Amino acid sequence: MTTSSHPYTTGDAGIPAASDEHSLTVGPDGPIVLHDHYLVEKMAQFNRERVPERVVHAKGGGAFGVFEVTGDVGELTRAKVFQQGTTTPVLVRFSTVAGDLGSADTVRDPRGFSVKFYTEEGNYDLVGNNTPVFFIRDPQKFQDFIHSQKRRADNHLRDNDMQWDFWTLSPESAHQVTILMSDRGTPRSWRHQNGYGSHTFMWVNGAGERVWVKYHFTTDQGIESFTDAEAKQVAAEDPDAHLRDLHESIARGDHPSWTLKVQVMPFEDATSYRFNPFDLTKVWPHGDYPLVTVGRLTLDRNPSSYFAEIEQAAFEPSNMVPGIGPSPDKMLLGRMLSYPDAHRYRIGTNYLQLPVNRPRSPVHSYNRDGSMRYDNPGDPVYAPNSYGGAAADPGRFGAAPGWEASGEIVRAAYSLHAEDDDFGQAGALYRDVLGGPERERLAANIVGHASSGVTKAIRARVVEYWRQVDPSLGDVVERGLGGS
Ligand code: NDP
Repeated sequence: MTTSSHPYTTGDAGIPAASDEHSLTVGPDGPIVLHDHYLVEKMAQFNRERVPERVVHAKGGGAFGVFEVTGDVGELTRAKVFQQGTTTPVLVRFSTVAGDLGSADTVRDPRGFSVKFYTEEGNYDLVGNNTPVFFIRDPQKFQDFIHSQKRRADNHLRDNDMQWDFWTLSPESAHQVTILMSDRGTPRSWRHQNGYGSHTFMWVNGAGERVWVKYHFTTDQGIESFTDAEAKQVAAEDPDAHLRDLHESIARGDHPSWTLKVQVMPFEDATSYRFNPFDLTKVWPHGDYPLVTVGRLTLDRNPSSYFAEIEQAAFEPSNMVPGIGPSPDKMLLGRMLSYPDAHRYRIGTNYLQLPVNRPRSPVHSYNRDGSMRYDNPGDPVYAPNSYGGAAADPGRFGAAPGWEASGEIVRAAYSLHAEDDDFGQAGALYRDVLGGPERERLAANIVGHASSGVTKAIRARVVEYWRQVDPSLGDVVERGLGGS
């Protein structure tokens, strides 16, 4: 037996392997013996290579980079990550929503746009999308919504009839569906799209003063989209087109960046603003609350292990650092429970110990043990204690950002503000923002989508839905669907 310069193969316990090729058998032609532990371990580990794919946002990719503060918002939040002169390492993951793990990147869908800031005071996660709004406004409907976008129970096929059935029975979806059916539903790459925090969040400054904010990551590459036909062609030719584009761009030193801006609403405005500012199906028009620059996010490093650093990356809207808090947005409050719950199931109890998820700041938690825990947090194992263990510091971190709430415990829609309805902002987008060719493509995309596998009864509802967005759009859709 000769030795060579490369390392020798071992099993996972480090024991040298006798062969990379031959199983242990009774004679060259005989049966394989069970005590070939090396073979058994290889087969067993292989069967366990996958963790469950994400139920939503399964297909994606991401990269590491840095966030630099370039603006001056220190008067609005005491979050260290947003103070002048601060740079913070980040991870960003992009994804489609409805497709399975191997599905095509360019299909018509919103795109996830999740940012993990590894700040000095813990991980701050902004788990957003490439659209400023969402299909629903109450987490009670999320599971049903996603079921309608995924696969049927009987034949395991996706089904446009289910999608339009749900959307037209949920008129609050109209704004998001308008954006989805517009050019922005098929971005050219992850680099050529904006990201939005979408929810309303609270910022608190050093004096305890509160404002409401919405986050906008504006692409420095410019918005570019595929037409529907181009998106379908690329999906057929290169299902991983967006993953490839991001990886190759960073590898050649062409580092994509986004400018982070916020809209800032004075705390007191929320009760009287013309739209309910916590309703995730609405934007705050720029004319009411202009964009204020915060900083620049740049992606400059590809992951070295897709599985370890992207597939097991765990973003959670509940990760908010001092100076940032939630709002009464019901979707946000629901997501604050569901994301960490999903990670515990999908990755494991101690998912926050994985290098990609581990904070870069100290962790002094009394949470203990559980599957695959490998650190040794030591004693004491409880608080309060008399043995020098960590103790909360309410003087520094105790003022929880909050708001007043009172009333009967009810199941009810949001209270309506003066201009709240389900179709107004979608109509404004159609009439005031989109140009003629964009409007034509929007209508053609709707007609193309609703023509395929949608029953006559639901097609009639599709026409009425778009008529409420804009009567002329409803007419065009009706004609396109053949009088429905
Ligand atoms: P503005 O004219 O100030 O802004 C319109 C915004 O629309 C643009 O800045 C751009 O946002 C966005 N936009 C352009 N094309 C599309 C598209 N195909 N799909 C989605 N968004 C697009 O108007 P208002 O702020 O008064 O908003 C009018 C409408 O614009 C809203 O009802 C909403 O539908 C849409 N919009 C508004 C946003 C906001 O935060 N105010 C954000 C995004 C859309 P961007 O600069 O972010 O690319």
